[in-house]
Amino acid sequence: MDFDAKFRELISEMKLDGRYRTFIELERIAGEFPTALWHRPDGGIQRVTVWCSNDYLGMGQHPRVLAAMHNAIDIFGAGTGGTRNISGTNRQHVALEAELADLHGKEAALIFTSGWISNLAALGSLGRLLPDCVIFSDALNHNSMIEGIRRSGAERLIFRHNDVAHLDELMGSVDPARPKIVAFESVYSMDGDVAPIAAICGIAEKHGAITYLDEVHAVGLYGARGGGIAERDGVAHRVTLIEGTLAKAFGVMGGYVAGSALMIDVIRSLADSFIFTTSLPPHLAAGALAAIQHVKAHPEDRTRQAENAARLKAMLKSGGLPVLDSPTHILPVMVGDAHLCRRISELLLAGRGIYVQPINYPTVARGLERLRITPTPFHTEAHMRDLVDALIAVGRDLGWAAARQAA
Ligand code: PLP
Repeated sequence: MDFDAKFRELISEMKLDGRYRTFIELERIAGEFPTALWHRPDGGIQRVTVWCSNDYLGMGQHPRVLAAMHNAIDIFGAGTGGTRNISGTNRQHVALEAELADLHGKEAALIFTSGWISNLAALGSLGRLLPDCVIFSDALNHNSMIEGIRRSGAERLIFRHNDVAHLDELMGSVDPARPKIVAFESVYSMDGDVAPIAAICGIAEKHGAITYLDEVHAVGLYGARGGGIAERDGVAHRVTLIEGTLAKAFGVMGGYVAGSALMIDVIRSLADSFIFTTSLPPHLAAGALAAIQHVKAHPEDRTRQAENAARLKAMLKSGGLPVLDSPTHILPVMVGDAHLCRRISELLLAGRGIYVQPINYPTVARGLERLRITPTPFHTEAHMRDLVDALIAVGRDLGWAAARQAA
């Protein structure tokens, strides 16, 4: 086979339909979030305002987090040199797991090297270990949950997004004796909409199912202590397993699940993608621990973020731009064309120093391409005004209908 010809064909297909991804090389500047330096392809360096980071609260640069990480490296060194089972369990891991269990009001928690791996490991092993299991999966679940379910080998039934009646109907169609898991997210990362967690738990309870909730885009941001939407809605105790990340609102890296001590013990003991990999470096665990402790005790960061999200949404709307009316901090501005989406993003970056990554297929369905904007507590009113003005100006230059009609 002519491998190179095949690989070239794959890449050129992606380029043709706008799916080819170009990485923007950034140099984050600790203490100046959301400003960063962009290393341009022509060798130049430009200051830009980042509008698409998942470091939702800027914890990735928080002095307390940085100090904890520096300190941990100085004291414990870089890596752990082992899997959790073979010399790789450090005090920071144990402390972090206790902190996470407390955050979610659960008996125990287990950390992984990423949120993606958490979903793969937890769903993959539960679906495999429960004989004849059926997993009911929301239609918009993240790739990591889909891969976990696939890996488990369990039967998968997909319910329409956030459609509780459809979930009930599907669950009712399955033998009541079969073990069931309902897998869903709280804040959906691309539309920024929120699951009706209490209603889904109600249906799951009716059918005797386990609930598995991905709170990756909600932990740190919602609830009195940042325990997520389940905490905010007072339903965390009804969710069997809560999965989260240490990489977004907590600003570091890693993922976790929290639940009953028994279930965590099962995942710890039987999940391949937990067992056969080196554990998280101590400084990452120490940084995440510091971030969670800070976020738990500082609801004012959440308040400022919510206020900024509301302010920017109102500004986008009053500018006539097609922002989805999401109830969260995720503000998708719908473009609906992969090439246009990419061009808007390129011109914003090169001409205006504004970085918003275009979101194209396969991350979202074709025709639903968008700019996904994530305001943080650190974006100022001036940043927002710049963004809205630039979107309208650049959009007009490119003939984007939404911008042409904009105020
Ligand atoms: N779950 C959801 C819903 C996500 O959007 C993501 C990543 O964006 C993940 C899981 C994976 O988390 P991580 O980035 O920690 O691997």
